[in-house]
Amino acid sequence: MDKEKIFVTRSSMPSYEEYIEAIKPLWDSHWLTNMGKYHQELEKNLREYLDVPWLSLMVNGHMALELTIQAMGFPEGAEVITTPFTFISTTHAIVRNHLKPVFCDVKPEDGTIDETKIEELITERTAAILPVHVYGNVCNVEEIQRIADKYGLKVIYDAAHAFGVSFKGKGIGSYGDASVFSFHATKVFHTIEGGAVAFPDAKLYDKLYNLKNFGIRGEELVTAVGANGKMNEFCAIMGLCNLDHVEESVAQRKALCEEYEKGLRDVSGIRLFEIKQEVKRNYGYFPILIEDAYPLSRDELYERLKEQQIYTRKYFYPLTSDQACFKNKYRDVGLGDARRLAKQVLALPVYEGLWVDNVSEIAKIICAY
Ligand SMILES: *Cc1c(COP(=O)(O)O)cnc(C)c1O
Repeated sequence: MDKEKIFVTRSSMPSYEEYIEAIKPLWDSHWLTNMGKYHQELEKNLREYLDVPWLSLMVNGHMALELTIQAMGFPEGAEVITTPFTFISTTHAIVRNHLKPVFCDVKPEDGTIDETKIEELITERTAAILPVHVYGNVCNVEEIQRIADKYGLKVIYDAAHAFGVSFKGKGIGSYGDASVFSFHATKVFHTIEGGAVAFPDAKLYDKLYNLKNFGIRGEELVTAVGANGKMNEFCAIMGLCNLDHVEESVAQRKALCEEYEKGLRDVSGIRLFEIKQEVKRNYGYFPILIEDAYPLSRDELYERLKEQQIYTRKYFYPLTSDQACFKNKYRDVGLGDARRLAKQVLALPVYEGLWVDNVSEIAKIICAY
């Protein structure tokens, strides 16, 4: 018999019965989208769960990023300091807003923006800093805020990986001017496709509401060049169901990550990212770094695992700044650490429904070389 394939991730789902029961009322109301009852309910529940002052639900994480940047009203061509060690969406959202990404290096210990290198990138055209809580690793939010305050810059976090993460007892979405979450099917919490923006300024709620609804202000009045960023009711209900189980799901992931940590912590040439003190994690990813002391290169290990039906991901490789659509378009200075991480990183399988035994087997295979 063929060995069962293990993929890097698999979507969590409520039971079929639970979801079917929950969507039944839609056949009475016929209200399927446009900020319906379930949209409102999920927005309220997420605001509480994520422990954030304000929250706007969106059709997906990418649109949430684009509309948040748009809502800030930066002048065309302004510069946004960000990192290239992320999913392509982060950089696309900046460029699609007619702004210029300025890539900052990341820290080897956790892959987040190197806050000590931000100030040297600031010019009179800099409008914002857009760091990424990559793999749910928390950026140095305090130092980033200090720099932003000193130069009058906005801070928008790509918190797509950081659902439910908290730092110093506060929801991660309560730092900065806005934090964008993704509820894509592969994320820790999902609404099939979906996302949200969390923010402290009540005025942003109305702006985002307007922008996600085409900029429409009245039956005969459109005041902004908006988009369609609305989450539909089927997705909102999937979110309500999944939110009921998210703690359970995170607990399962925690057990898997701890098994990996146990098995891989002391392997020569395998390095794990450092987790800051005072962080409550969501265990969304398990990235490892393959260093020179390991007998195989990252790419070789990726291939060997694949031969054994274990599908890992080079997540994130290449850097977004090295992708065909951006290469040689923007200043590329001092991205040494980001480039090294991109060459060393390998995300191992972790998802609800994977067994601890699967994880110990994967760890054993990695140890055996
Ligand atoms: C998933 C993801 C996004 C985009 O979210 P979608 O919901 O898929 O549109 C943005 N940034 C990062 C870092 C992501 O991982």
